[in-house]
Amino acid sequence: MLQCTNRISNLNNMPCKKRQKIKSKTQKNTNISRLYGLHMSVSNGYQALPELTEQLNASIIQIHPTAPQRWNTKPIEDIKAETLIRSTKKHPTLKALALHAIYLINLAQPDKQKFHLSKISIVQYLEFCETIKQYAKQYSQNFDCLGTVVHPGSAKHYKDITQALDRVVYGINWIIEHSNKGTILLETSAGSGQIIGDTFEELGYLRQHAENKQRVAFCIDTQHMWASGYDFVSNTEQVIKDLDKHLGIQNIKLIHLNNSQTELGSHKDRHANLKSGLIPFEGLKKFVNHPALKHIPVVLETPACKSFEESQKEMQDLIELLDK
Ligand SMILES: [Zn+2]
Repeated sequence: MLQCTNRISNLNNMPCKKRQKIKSKTQKNTNISRLYGLHMSVSNGYQALPELTEQLNASIIQIHPTAPQRWNTKPIEDIKAETLIRSTKKHPTLKALALHAIYLINLAQPDKQKFHLSKISIVQYLEFCETIKQYAKQYSQNFDCLGTVVHPGSAKHYKDITQALDRVVYGINWIIEHSNKGTILLETSAGSGQIIGDTFEELGYLRQHAENKQRVAFCIDTQHMWASGYDFVSNTEQVIKDLDKHLGIQNIKLIHLNNSQTELGSHKDRHANLKSGLIPFEGLKKFVNHPALKHIPVVLETPACKSFEESQKEMQDLIELLDK
C-alpha cells in the first residue's frame, strides 16, 4: 500500500488522490524481452517504488539513493535495500535497479579533498548496490542491481587530456580497491566545457587502463552521444562499429534513452521527451533496437520523468519504440 498524505507527493509531483485513481490499473504484458523503465525519485520511500513501477509498466528503474547535489560520506542504510526487496515480493514487475552517482563528482579533480569525497561517494553507492543484491538473495527474489552510473569528470584543470584521464583511472582503481564488489558504469558525456567522456575513445581509455576491468562497464546516453556529434540516425552502422571498437558492445550494460532539445554536435546536455526532440523518433527506434543493442536495458531520463502523469504517457511511447 502506498503511503499517501494530503500534501502533493514529491514523487513525480502527483497529488495522492490522482495516484490512487490509477492504482487499480494492472500491468500489461508488453512482450518486450529487455528490461525497460525510467529514472524515478525515491522521495516516497523505498517501499513505494515497486508499486509505482508496476503502475508505470516498467521493469527497471534508476534512482539517486542520496540527494544528488550533496556530498555523501556515510554508508546508505541497509534497511532501505531490505524494504525495497521486501516490497518487490508483492510487486514483482520491478526486476532491476541502476544507481546514478551524485552530480558533484569529478574523478579528475586535482583538489585532494574533493577528489576524496568523489571517490567515497561512489564507494558508498557500490556497497549499497551489493547490499540490494544480498537482500534479493536472502528473500529469494529475482532482482539485480546493475551498478552505479558515473560521469567521469572534467579535464578543465589540465593542459593535457591524458593527465586528466590518468587521474580518473587512479580514482577508479582506488574506488574498486576500497569496495567489495559492484560495477562502475561510465557514462558517455554531452561534451560541454572540457567534460571527459564525450568520445568513445576517452571512455574506452578509462576501462582499458583500470586494474580491475571486470568492475568497469559503460552506460551510453543517446542525447549525450547526439550532442557530442555521433549521428546514430544517419550513420547507425558506423556508430555501432565505433562503440564496439572502443567500448566493446559486451561492456555496455545500460542505455539512457533520451531525445535532444539541441542539434547534433551542439555539445549541450539538454534532454527532451521521446517524441518532442530533434532526434527523429524513428531514428531513436532504429538505433536502440539495433541487433547489437537490443538486449541492453533501457532507462528514460526525459523531462516527463519528473511527473507521474507524464511518465505514464512517456512510458507508453517507450513501449511503442521498443521492438517486441
Ligand atoms: Zn544519462
